Amino acid sequence: MRVLVVEDEEKVSRFIVRGLTAERFAVDAAPDGASGLELATTYDYDVIILDLLLPGIGGTEVLRRLRLTNTNVPVLVLTARDAVADKVENFEAGADDYLTKPFAFAELLVRVKALLRRGPVSRASSLRVSDLELDRLSQTVKRAGNRIDLTSKEYALLEYLMANAGRVLSRTMIVEHVWDQSFDGVTNIVDVYVRHLRNKVDEAHEQKLIRTVRGVGYCVGDRAEV
Ligand code: CA
Repeated sequence: MRVLVVEDEEKVSRFIVRGLTAERFAVDAAPDGASGLELATTYDYDVIILDLLLPGIGGTEVLRRLRLTNTNVPVLVLTARDAVADKVENFEAGADDYLTKPFAFAELLVRVKALLRRGPVSRASSLRVSDLELDRLSQTVKRAGNRIDLTSKEYALLEYLMANAGRVLSRTMIVEHVWDQSFDGVTNIVDVYVRHLRNKVDEAHEQKLIRTVRGVGYCVGDRAEV
C-alpha cells in the first residue's frame, strides 16, 4: 500500500513517515502543496494524508484540484484547526476523513486502515462501462439505453463492481463491501448474485461485461493494466 504525506512541518511529516514505514507502507512525503499535487497526480496512491495549512497552495485547494482528475483516492485531512466550517468546507472539497492535531500515531493508523478497507470510492454520480450505465441519484441501471430492474443487493453489487471497473475483486472483498460485516462468510453468495446479475445485464448482449477471473474473483470491463 502506497501512501502520500503532504505536510510542511518536518517533525510531523517525519513522525508519520516513520510510523507508516514501520507498518510496512510505502510512503512518499511532500513538503508543500505544489509538490504534493504533482506527486498525487503522477502516482497511484492508496491513501493521501494532507495537511491544510501549507505554504503556497493550501490543503483545501490541493484537494479541490486533485478531485478534478482523481475522484477515487481516499484523502485524510490533517489540521490544527477544529472549526466546523473548515470540516464542512473540506468534506465538500472531497476529504474522506479528518484528524485534528495533535494526534496519536495509533489514531492516524486506525483511520488510514479504515480508509484502505473501504477502498477507492468513485464519487461520480453516474458510472459507465461500455454501454452499461448506472445512475446513483435515481438508482437506475440501463444497458444500451434499456432499463434493467435490479433488487437492492444486485444493485449494490453492480455499483461496487462498476465503481472498481477494471479491477479484479475477490469474493471476500465483495462480501465485505456489499454485505455487512456481520455477514458470515458464505462467499458462495457472491457467485449466486453474480449469476443473477449476468442474467439481467449480459445475457441478451454479445459483449459480456462481467468477467470471471479464475481463482481470483470478478471484474467488470477490461482489466486495467497494472
Ligand atoms: Ca502545516
